[in-house]
Amino acid sequence: MLGLYIHIPFCVRKCRYCDFLSAPACDSEREAYLKSLHGQIKAIGERLRQKKSGKHYIVDSIFIGGGTPSLLSSDQMQALMDVVRESFYVADDAEITAECNPGTVTRKKLCAYKRAGINRLSIGLQSADNEELALLGRIHTWEEFLDTFKAARNACFTNINIDIMSALPGQTVLSYQNTLTSVLALHPEHISAYSLIIEEGTPFFDEYGETDCAKKKKKDAAKLLPSEDEVVQMDELTWKLLGEAGYEHYEISNYALPESVCRHNLKYWHCEEYLGVGTGAASYMKTNSSGDYCRLKVITDTKAFSEIDWNDPLSLDKCFAECDILSLQEQMEEMAFLGLRTKEGVRLSSFYERFGKSFNEVYGEVVKKYTAMGMMKADETHVALTLKGMEVANWIMADFCG
Ligand code: SF4
Repeated sequence: MLGLYIHIPFCVRKCRYCDFLSAPACDSEREAYLKSLHGQIKAIGERLRQKKSGKHYIVDSIFIGGGTPSLLSSDQMQALMDVVRESFYVADDAEITAECNPGTVTRKKLCAYKRAGINRLSIGLQSADNEELALLGRIHTWEEFLDTFKAARNACFTNINIDIMSALPGQTVLSYQNTLTSVLALHPEHISAYSLIIEEGTPFFDEYGETDCAKKKKKDAAKLLPSEDEVVQMDELTWKLLGEAGYEHYEISNYALPESVCRHNLKYWHCEEYLGVGTGAASYMKTNSSGDYCRLKVITDTKAFSEIDWNDPLSLDKCFAECDILSLQEQMEEMAFLGLRTKEGVRLSSFYERFGKSFNEVYGEVVKKYTAMGMMKADETHVALTLKGMEVANWIMADFCG
C-alpha cells in the first residue's frame, strides 16, 4: 500500500513565519502548474506500473498539502483526483486529506471536494486570538475560521483536523488555553499542536531569530516570545486538556479521537513507502527486491516545474533534484527516530524483519541510558519515549544518529 503526497505551492499571501515551499500566484500560473502536475502523476503512475509488471500500485492514503490546496476550484480538485485515479488504484477506504485555509472555501466548494473523493480536511487555524493571527500574518480571523469549520461540517466532513500553534509572539499561557478550549468546543476528530519554530529566511527570523541584528530588533519588538517556562506550561496544558477531552496523544504533536489517527502521517513515522508529487515533494520508495530504499525530492522551482514537457520520456528523471539510495545505517536510524515520535514507539518485530538485526543489538546502550533516566520505556514488543522523554525528543533522537 502506498501513500501519495501532492504538493500545491500556492497561498493567498505568505505568512510571516512560513518557510514552506509556497507563494502567491496568478490564475494562469496555477493552471500551468496543475497541468504539469497531471503530467507528472501520469508519468509516475506509468513508471510504477511497469515496475510492478503492469499492475497498478494500490494507494490507501492521499494527502494534498501546501501551500493552500483549498485555493483549487471545484473543477481543478475534481480533475486532479481524476488523474490520480487513472494513474493509481485508489483503495475504496483510502484516507484522502486536503489542507484548507479559512476564508478560501464555501460550503458549495467543500461539497464538490467531497464528491471528488476528499474525505478528510486539515484546517490551518493556529490561534483563536485575532491579535496573534494578525501578527502571524494569517489571512483570516477566528470568526472566519469558525465559518469554514461550520461549512465543512455542513458539507458532511466527519474527519477534520485543526492545526494550532504555541510559543507565538505575544501569546500568554492564558491566551493559549483559550485557543485549546475554543478548539475543543468544536470536537474536531484530530488536533495537531505544534510549537512555533523561528526559521531562517522568514520575516520572523529577522525579528525574533538569533542574529545580532535580530537580537537588537527583538528587544524592540512589540510582542515578545513567551519564556521557556511559559512554553513548558503550554505543552503541559496541551497534554492535560486534550487528554481529558479523550484525545490520544499518538505522536509528539498529534492528538486524535478514537479511530481518527492520520493514516497518511503514520506512514512517514512507520517508514512505509510514500510517493511525493509536485514541487519539493519527497518520496521514500523501495528501489528493488533486495530491499534498498531511496529518498527522492522533486525540484523546488515552480516555474521550471510548470514548463516540463511530459511527452519527453526523460522528464521524469529530470524532475527530481535529489535521488539518494539510503545506506543500511541511515535506514535503521530513520526507523528509530521516526518510530520514537509515536506513542507506540518502534515495533521491534518490524525492525528485525527489515534489517535482520534486533533493535537492542544496534541501540541497546542508548535505550538502557534513557530508560534509566525515565525518558524511555521498553518491553518485549516496543521501545517508546515516555512523556518526559517526548519533552526532549530532539535531544534523545540525536543519540540514535551516527
Ligand atoms: S498558509 Fe501555510 S503554507 Fe501558506 S504561507 Fe501560511 S503557513 Fe505558509
